[in-house]
Amino acid sequence: MGKMNRLNWINFVGILVLNWICTGDDAFAEITHDTGFSSSESYAKTLDKEDPLARFRSKFDIPLSNGQTSIYFNGNSLGIPTKAAQVDMMHEMQDWAKLGVRGHFREKEPWYTYHENFRGPVTEILGAHEDELVFMNSLTVNLHMMMVSFYRPTRTRYKILMEGPVFASDTYAVKTQIEHHGYTSEEALIVVEPRQGEDFIRTEDVAAALEKHGDSIALVMMNAVNYLTGQAINVKAISELSHKQGAYIGIDLAHATGNIPLKLHDWNVDFAAWCSYKYLSGGPGAIGGVFIHERHAKNIKMPRFAGWWGNDPQKRFLIHLEKNFVPVRTADAWQISNPSIFSMVPLKGALAVYQEAGMEAFREKSVKITGYLETLLDEAKLDGVEIVTPRNPDERGCQLSLRFTKEAEKVHKALEKNNVICDFRKPNIVRAAPHPLYNTYHEVWRFVQILKDVLEAEPV
Ligand SMILES: *Cc1c(COP(=O)(O)O)cnc(C)c1O
Repeated sequence: MGKMNRLNWINFVGILVLNWICTGDDAFAEITHDTGFSSSESYAKTLDKEDPLARFRSKFDIPLSNGQTSIYFNGNSLGIPTKAAQVDMMHEMQDWAKLGVRGHFREKEPWYTYHENFRGPVTEILGAHEDELVFMNSLTVNLHMMMVSFYRPTRTRYKILMEGPVFASDTYAVKTQIEHHGYTSEEALIVVEPRQGEDFIRTEDVAAALEKHGDSIALVMMNAVNYLTGQAINVKAISELSHKQGAYIGIDLAHATGNIPLKLHDWNVDFAAWCSYKYLSGGPGAIGGVFIHERHAKNIKMPRFAGWWGNDPQKRFLIHLEKNFVPVRTADAWQISNPSIFSMVPLKGALAVYQEAGMEAFREKSVKITGYLETLLDEAKLDGVEIVTPRNPDERGCQLSLRFTKEAEKVHKALEKNNVICDFRKPNIVRAAPHPLYNTYHEVWRFVQILKDVLEAEPV
């Protein structure tokens, strides 16, 4: 909180000085003394002018809506393409046509090792070493592949602890893994849920469940950021607590990768998996990825399902000579098939933008633009609308989930009509995520204005 207050204090002084020097409009009178954010339109534009990441917006194609540039607040669900993505895709198509099979070993970025170019750019995003990372498959498939290695139930240690509610795919994966090993969810699945009347998981409740079930827990699997509420959990603390009970911990990063700062290696989690089409802008159905902590990645005795692509690359093509699987001593050993080049290509340009921006600047804008959205929503005092996402910036990324007392679907439709693209989750949640790399403060201002107008025209 201290950091946030300092940031707001700087904003506050900044806007005072700015208005005094150069604008002379009415912004001065509208300054909110609590947060330092003013609700005037000119202030929004000032924030954009001062935004060190503003130049990155022009590197993306912003989808149109009704023939106009949309307010795209849906990067939490499907990110938008960089302009480079189209160029890169065309380049790969052309090379395929020109080179055929020789593309695998072409001089520049051969397809044979193409996936290796991607882990460098995400080390900062994930807080991991290169050897701990590999892009492969897609998210739910990877959760299964990771459970092959990290969920090896025994007669006494067979339970999986997760939080709820989560995105259904994770639940299906966990339940069917449990059943695959001959247990039932009733006996082997522990779900920690928010307390009655609350929206968030409390670390203390996770701790209590871990304490209670102790050494019967084989695996703890949690989402770093909840898809619905936007809550970011304390991965570091839960990782420590899990290890104290002798359980492995795996993290689903679907809504965390490219959204909040992560330190997977230092937090000592055993594995993590993500999809690349949300914040990372990898394109629909883009390749997913996994993190496997060094201590496991280096261990060639780790149980896993193998395929030729996990083999030592020097020996991959000696299949007829080499009968035994020789895993490479990195996360690459978990690969099974050769990866889809075309589901990786669009990611290249997007990761380059992340790298150029840097996670520190990214996070700084994320905290600021989300705080700005929060402040404007609070000030608008909209009837029947409540922010579900945690108020503490340390407990969220850039997504704010809004709960409507009723008719949320109607509101969402009206927003769409006004060129806002955000998403609706039944029965009453609208999620809005201003992405630090391509959204502007002025869009946030307009979004709140539009929402206000929509609700005034049709009260919920
Ligand atoms: C988006 C998302 C998925 C999607 O799974 P795919 O296997 O990529 O289709 C799974 N789990 C969570 C938590 C998600 O947010």
